[in-house]
Amino acid sequence: MTRTTDHGGGVWSIGVPIPDNPLGHTLVYVVDTDRGPVLIDTGWDDPSSWDALSAGLAALGLAVRDVHGVVLTHHHPDHHGLSGQVREASGAWLAMHPADIEVVRRTRGAEPRVWLDYLVRKLASVGAPDDHLGPLRAARDSGRARSLPGLGAALPDRDVVPGELLPLAGRRLRAVWTPGHTPGHVCLHLEEAHPAALPGNGRLFSGDHLLPGISPHIGLYEDPDDTAVTDPLADYVDSLERIGRLGAAEVLPAHQHAFTRPADRVRDLLAHHEERLAELLALLAVPLTPWQAAERMTWNRPWAEIAPASRNIAVSEAEAHLRRLVKLGRAEPVHGMEPVAYAAV
Ligand SMILES: [Zn+2]
Ligand SMILES: [Zn+2]
Repeated sequence: MTRTTDHGGGVWSIGVPIPDNPLGHTLVYVVDTDRGPVLIDTGWDDPSSWDALSAGLAALGLAVRDVHGVVLTHHHPDHHGLSGQVREASGAWLAMHPADIEVVRRTRGAEPRVWLDYLVRKLASVGAPDDHLGPLRAARDSGRARSLPGLGAALPDRDVVPGELLPLAGRRLRAVWTPGHTPGHVCLHLEEAHPAALPGNGRLFSGDHLLPGISPHIGLYEDPDDTAVTDPLADYVDSLERIGRLGAAEVLPAHQHAFTRPADRVRDLLAHHEERLAELLALLAVPLTPWQAAERMTWNRPWAEIAPASRNIAVSEAEAHLRRLVKLGRAEPVHGMEPVAYAAV
C-alpha cells in the first residue's frame, strides 16, 4: 500500500520504503511543472522501492517515463538510489550539488573489497577493538563481499548551483547549500505563496538537513584525503542558522512528516549539538580515542545495544564533535598516542 500525500499547490509526496531500516520511508516529492513532473529525490535501490515509486506516480495519474527531471538533496542511497533507473525509464536530467557529485564519482568506482579495506584501516586508526574489526576483515578477505549501497550509483548530469533557481518551468525553486550531513547537501526553497495561506516565506524541501523528530547524522565527510581539514559540525550549524533565517511557512522533509515553525526545530537542534559538545568536553578530562569517546557519549540507547554498523556511524559522529572541539581550541590530540587520543585543554 503506497502512501501518497497531496501537499497542495502542485506538490505531492510518495512514501518509498527503505527495506530493513527503522527510518521506514523516504518521502519522494513530486513537483508539477509546465514541462512535466520533477522529482525531489528518488528512494532506495530495491525492487519493492521501485514498485512503490511507480505505484505512487500511478496514483497521481503519472508514470516514471513522464518524469522530466530529478533534483537530489544529497548523495545518500535512500535519496539517490533509484535515480539511475528513473533516468533510464524517462530520459530525465539528474541534478546534484558538485560536492556530492564528487562523492558519487569517488564511490561508484570503488570495489567492495577496497571500500572494506578503507573502512577497516579507518576504524583501526580511531581505536576500534579487534572484536569489532574481525568480521569486517573477514568480509574483506573472503572475496565474497557483496556489492554495497552507493557503489553503483548513477552519476548526475547537472550541477545544482547554490543560490540559483532550478530550471523548473512555471515554478520558483531555489537551491540553498546546506553542507553538514553531507558536503553537498542542498535544501530547496519553493518561493511561492503557501497553498493554505500559512504565514511565512514559501515552503522548504529540507532533505535530511531538518527533520521533525530525528537529529540527522553529522559525521566526518567520507573523504580518504581529509585528515584534519573539514569541520562538518560547524558546516551543519551554519547551515541550520541559514535555514532558520529563511522563515519558511512549512517544511517538507525527506523522512517522517511535514511540519511548521522551522525556527523552533532549528533552535532545538542547535541546543542538542551544544549539549553534545559539552558532554564530550567533560569526558575528555582523560585522554580518549574517538572510539572510547563514542562508547561513553549518550546515544538513543546503551552502547551495548548498538549494532556494529551503527557503531561505525556513532564513532564518525564522535569524530565530527572531536574535530569541532579541536577547531574551537577546546581539545587537542595527545602527543605520541597510537591510536590517536584526545584530551581537553
Ligand atoms: Zn542522508
Ligand atoms: Zn535520508
